[in-house]
Amino acid sequence: MNLPPQFIERTKPLLGEEWDAFENALTEETPISIRLNSMKYNQPLKNNERVGWCHTGYYLPKRPKFTFDPLFHAGCYYPQEASSMFVEQAFRQCMANKDGLKVLDLCAAPGGKSTLLMSLLSDNSLLVSNEVIRSRANILSENITKWGKANNIVTNNDPSEIGKLTSFFDLILVDAPCSGEGMFRKDETALSEWSEANVQLCKERQQRIVADIWNALKPGGMLIYSTCTYNADENEDNVLWFCENLGASPIELAIVESWNITGALKGNLPVYRFLPHKTKGEGFFLAVIQKNADEEPTGNLKTKNKSKDRKGKKTQLDGIYKDYILNSANYAFFQENDNWKAIPEQFAAEYEMVSSMLRVVSGGVQLGTLKGKDFIPAHSLAMSSEINKETFPSYELDWKTAIAYLRKETIVLDHSAPKGYVLVCYMNVPLGFVKNIGNRANNLYPQEWRIRTSNIPDISEDVILRQ
Ligand code: SAM
Repeated sequence: MNLPPQFIERTKPLLGEEWDAFENALTEETPISIRLNSMKYNQPLKNNERVGWCHTGYYLPKRPKFTFDPLFHAGCYYPQEASSMFVEQAFRQCMANKDGLKVLDLCAAPGGKSTLLMSLLSDNSLLVSNEVIRSRANILSENITKWGKANNIVTNNDPSEIGKLTSFFDLILVDAPCSGEGMFRKDETALSEWSEANVQLCKERQQRIVADIWNALKPGGMLIYSTCTYNADENEDNVLWFCENLGASPIELAIVESWNITGALKGNLPVYRFLPHKTKGEGFFLAVIQKNADEEPTGNLKTKNKSKDRKGKKTQLDGIYKDYILNSANYAFFQENDNWKAIPEQFAAEYEMVSSMLRVVSGGVQLGTLKGKDFIPAHSLAMSSEINKETFPSYELDWKTAIAYLRKETIVLDHSAPKGYVLVCYMNVPLGFVKNIGNRANNLYPQEWRIRTSNIPDISEDVILRQ
């Protein structure tokens, strides 16, 4: 690997005598890991090494072609770089035993850390996952939908717009856009795009992002700051900047020695670094800071309160369709044109308020679309762990037909299959809906999510969860 000379010049003094081991590790293979979605798949992978700091994280011996594993598309697991899963420790240690939380993942696409937070939060807590770039917000929404939890809202806003939600969140995760030095061995563009000027630009942008969102954090609330870069400018220096300029206090986490996590490479703040020659994962940095409990909120929380700005209106839904979801009494139903969605009742007010102030991409569970007398079930319902499976006949697909379904091809179910809307499954996990009309089944898989490659293997070697 040809490291930029200026990167070497800046990083060597930080690592001291560990430099050679570090440089060597950058030439090694990237460890591959996944995190299971225990709402959909709750058996441990007995033959795989576990990620020490994440109870659902596992290393894989080699990189499979996730595309050809139907359970990947069904949201049973998320391929995630292992070091990033350390967010679990920050959450558990800072938010343990707290319920009814409002959590923001500010820079959330494609959704690795949001899906991790979804697994950690109780149903009484709400996660707002935000992404400023619209196309990436759609990918985020897709991954959140596949994860299948209802207590979420996906937004597409600049941090300064969300910052207007004064003292709204108990916890904010800022997984900041950074110079990406920790991705050098995984991603060649991170290496080719690196420059000293970009490090400076990232550092200033990170300060702006955290300063812009600070007003939305409750007094006494926690902010997890993370990057995937090594330099101190974007890491230790920035944490110090947050403490000095925002009055934040750094929070110490308990660490297990065998994880080989490194502390500060500059100064002595409690920060947590993942270096590839010591920890099995990519380069990662994390720190937790707390807002002073006595800090007076600076902004006013004003909702626009115009119903036309709202994302649909809360209204009654016919009993039959309401029962598509389990525990329907705990949900509020919103109609947006002919589309219906279910939002956990306890967050209906938050949903309305967030919708009045921010651009909501998705939220809760999209139930379906009413077309005349027909209610077409939404893909989001099939992905939801709240789907009431009793209300739809289900039909098990073999691997080949599952891949054809995920390619949005028309599939044929056997004669015994019921007509109408059928939930198609693979290994008993829902993949989506078809409308079975007998000689064929119309495929309701979302067009934009379909597998696009036509280079399909004859057999499946990449179904990870079959053990
Ligand atoms: N947290 C994500 C995950 O675990 O899957 C990865 C987030 S990535 C490191 C940083 C994100 O910040 C990117 O999706 C990027 O589009 C977004 N971003 C870029 N500029 C931003 C800005 N000025 N404010 C907020 N987010 C920004």
